[in-house]
Amino acid sequence: MQQNKFIPIYEPLLGGNESKYLNECINTGWISSKGRFVTEFETSFNSFIGSSHALSASNGTVALHLALEALGIKPGDEIIVPDLTFAASINAILYCGATPVLADIEKETFNMDFSKVEKLITSKTKAIMPVHLYGLACDMDECLSIAKKHNLLVVEDAAEAFGSEFNGQKLGSFGDVATFSFYGNKTITTGEGGMITFKNQEVYQKAKVLRDHGMDPQKTYWHNFIGYNYRMTNMQAAIGLAQIERIDDILKQKIKIAQHYRNRLENVPGVSFVSESEKKLNTYWLVTILVDPDQFGLSRNDLQNKLKENNIDSRPVFFSLHIMPPYKEYHKIDLTNSKYVSNNGISLPSSLNLSTEDLDRICDCIISLHKN
Ligand SMILES: *Cc1c(COP(=O)(O)O)cnc(C)c1O
Repeated sequence: MQQNKFIPIYEPLLGGNESKYLNECINTGWISSKGRFVTEFETSFNSFIGSSHALSASNGTVALHLALEALGIKPGDEIIVPDLTFAASINAILYCGATPVLADIEKETFNMDFSKVEKLITSKTKAIMPVHLYGLACDMDECLSIAKKHNLLVVEDAAEAFGSEFNGQKLGSFGDVATFSFYGNKTITTGEGGMITFKNQEVYQKAKVLRDHGMDPQKTYWHNFIGYNYRMTNMQAAIGLAQIERIDDILKQKIKIAQHYRNRLENVPGVSFVSESEKKLNTYWLVTILVDPDQFGLSRNDLQNKLKENNIDSRPVFFSLHIMPPYKEYHKIDLTNSKYVSNNGISLPSSLNLSTEDLDRICDCIISLHKN
């Protein structure tokens, strides 16, 4: 019985001050978007990332929309986005009426292949959106050098990469703006929630006003443009603050889990992990492997079904955006690698509370499936 308990793909861990801070919100009545936790969460987030400004939002998707609007993205503008990402990345571009341009990825990192990006740039290109997928940094040296050469804005979608680094610097501190998500399965969670980090003070101020209905900060109920209500509540921020207080332990545990998987599975024929690099600190949001059906003996989908029979949850990699109805028309170039990773990638259980026994049960199962 015990041995066969269900292992979910991800469970949030709320073992610190979460309930204490949340109770404070309820006991004091500060349950809406005013209150001490919103500012405290933004401040500690900003100093952790090493960014200039941080602004909280209701979720990671509206954080992206707000960031793009604050940068002045408008209809007619083109933004380069990877073909393999969560739909929110491309949807936010479409909310602005701008045109996404799909880029292929590298099989070794699952991230945008910058060597193929320059040929996508036109006179309409305004920005490039690197998505640090599953916690692994995009090569920000390459990204920033292309952006500089062509005078493009950089919008980092760091939803899956909170705490990850490139050249010793936290992701979210490279782009003109960067966004994060605190959905229940993300590295830190607020239930639903998001954050934007900014380089430029004016862009930050613009986003702040847009987040609050576009209301003039000096003149209450006066609106100079159409804004939104994209605010985070004090209750969400209370949970976020409690989560970020334990961030060092959380990241250590995530890396430890990934190392356990790598040690046990790296040499299994047909199983491969994303490449490691001195320049990158990967915090492994979800540990994700590629399964080569010929070498492994089972397809990704078959492996998923077998794991399920053993009460082990898993998750396929995202679908390539260009094969789905709303995004087909943005398919301009060859997207072979994106399709390959989408068809053969699988994320393994990555909760912080996984025991060594749980991890070994998952690895034993995968190894035995290969042998058969
Ligand atoms: C989770 C996620 C988002 C959006 O976050 P929500 O908080 O769920 O709206 C955006 N981009 C990527 C890559 C994500 O994984």
